[in-house]
Amino acid sequence: MLQTTIHKTVRCTGIGLHSGKQVELVLRPAAEDTGVLFSLRSDSGSTFLSPAPSLVVETGLATVLGDGHQTVATVEHLLAAVSGMGIDNIHIEVTGRELPIMDGSAASFVYLLKQAGLRKLDKPRTVMTVKKPIEFEQDGKYIKARPYNGFRVDYTIEFAHPLIGTQRMELEITPKNFVTEIAKARTFGFLKEVDYLHANGLALGGSLDNAIVLDEYGVLNAEGLRFKDEFVRHKLLDFVGDMAVLGAPLHGHFEVFASGHAMNNAFLRHLDENKDIYLEPVTLPLPEAARVTSRTESLVPVAAV
Ligand SMILES: [Zn+2]
Repeated sequence: MLQTTIHKTVRCTGIGLHSGKQVELVLRPAAEDTGVLFSLRSDSGSTFLSPAPSLVVETGLATVLGDGHQTVATVEHLLAAVSGMGIDNIHIEVTGRELPIMDGSAASFVYLLKQAGLRKLDKPRTVMTVKKPIEFEQDGKYIKARPYNGFRVDYTIEFAHPLIGTQRMELEITPKNFVTEIAKARTFGFLKEVDYLHANGLALGGSLDNAIVLDEYGVLNAEGLRFKDEFVRHKLLDFVGDMAVLGAPLHGHFEVFASGHAMNNAFLRHLDENKDIYLEPVTLPLPEAARVTSRTESLVPVAAV
């Protein structure tokens, strides 16, 4: 299987969750073996940052990557879209230290990436595969991973809220399933948390336009839910984004109970720090057709919804 990038440069603007201000995002094609590369633009020029498990410095409001000199916030839903749609190499140019929150899902990023189109490159893709079962537990929550030929996630959440309760979804993460099953699921929060954040000058961009907000009884958003189980679908989306921080596609079967960004990252760090035990890089063989396909014929559209 060949590595991919996007076919052309695309851009969008939106509100930053932290600042409440307009921020700009530009996605550009990148060469083989670049991976995901953030380019952080400021008045003094551009600096670069590649995601890695150890660079997740905050997970409270949104996932923040940082290397001690610079940070970029709210990366999780774009990373999920890039990884979920099977894009290996991409330049992500950010102005304003955070990505736009858009509608709180990955739908806008999927739309943008479809506009850009997908292009195959000349080198084969290397995936990190789980080679030994692992059970990672914290406070009754867990992530269990085992070898599997693909990326499959079985996620269960439990919330003491009448509208959420217990929700479970198992999904093979393919570009098609990502787009149709989880990309549109929005992040969610509780009214009392939103009030607290706003009172403390946090999440200034957070609103009913970019999150499902719940009070004790139900959803405050006038349009209601996009799926009856939108909550667990969003957790799956977050899991895809959180695993993408590894910097290479991950293969395995993951059974997840009640985890969130912080625990997902703790798990990923553990895998990464013990990769000799748990992970094996596997370079996917080129299909026969790819070996004879000329470069001009290797342009393929992104999977349609
Ligand atoms: Zn999320």
